[in-house]
Amino acid sequence: MSKIALVTGGTRGIGESISKKLKEDGLTVIANYSSNDDAAKKFSDENQIDVFKCDVGNYESCSDMINKIYDQHKSIDVLINNAGITRDAPLHKMTPEKWQKVINVNLDSVFNMTSLVINKMRESQFGRIIHISSVNGQKGQFGQTNYAATKSALIGFSKSLALESAIKNITSNVVCPGYINTEMVAAIREDILKSIIDTIPAKRLGESNEIAELVSYLVSEKAQYINGATLSINGGLWMD
Ligand code: NDP
Repeated sequence: MSKIALVTGGTRGIGESISKKLKEDGLTVIANYSSNDDAAKKFSDENQIDVFKCDVGNYESCSDMINKIYDQHKSIDVLINNAGITRDAPLHKMTPEKWQKVINVNLDSVFNMTSLVINKMRESQFGRIIHISSVNGQKGQFGQTNYAATKSALIGFSKSLALESAIKNITSNVVCPGYINTEMVAAIREDILKSIIDTIPAKRLGESNEIAELVSYLVSEKAQYINGATLSINGGLWMD
């Protein structure tokens, strides 16, 4: 029987590429999203991948989604905590709303999703959990105290979870992408984006499928001894 993978924010951008790649690898994939029904429907129709609408920042909604997936598929073997947002402002202009929203979607979500799947993974003695962090969680970024705080928090979360879970054949790893060619990056002002690309040793943005290839490897049997790792994939932008 094929393994079941749940990809949060799996209908667009990096998550879309991860969903497609895991399906190509033979997994049964469920892609979560929060609001863009049109994009989700198009993605689902084109790829024959089930989608599930749920705000991963809301514990009750996550619980409902996961229970429905268990009813249908019995297990969730692979969890990709990918959904994430930005609400940038320097700290002296950061509102509590911007702070809380990013903490909720990028970090509370990881507690919600992971705590709701971990017990069944422990029972079945198998699990692959991957958290999509960011180079900006490793090095910090102007205007991103909220975002960087959530993305570096994932590293401590993942290492602690790896310590708790390795004995049950569950791995928890972090992938830190650099600047990737998605709508999130397209929203950056053109002159700022150009100056960012100038600082990348590879002199280009990364592609979503490059992140998906790394995730695919981490999910595979070949990666069973990689646990608690933080893997950078950023064209040489930050070597950590
Ligand atoms: P996109 O904005 O392109 O896609 C975001 C996806 O997440 C969409 O499917 C969206 O659903 C979903 N989503 C957003 N909020 C929620 C929520 N509350 N609950 C459930 N799903 C939600 O993002 P990217 O592909 O650019 O980024 C994916 C991840 O990679 C993020 O965690 C981001 O921080 C990280 N990252 C991205 C980089 C980049 O350069 N793009 C660099 C480093 C890290 P909907 O379609 O309904 O809006």
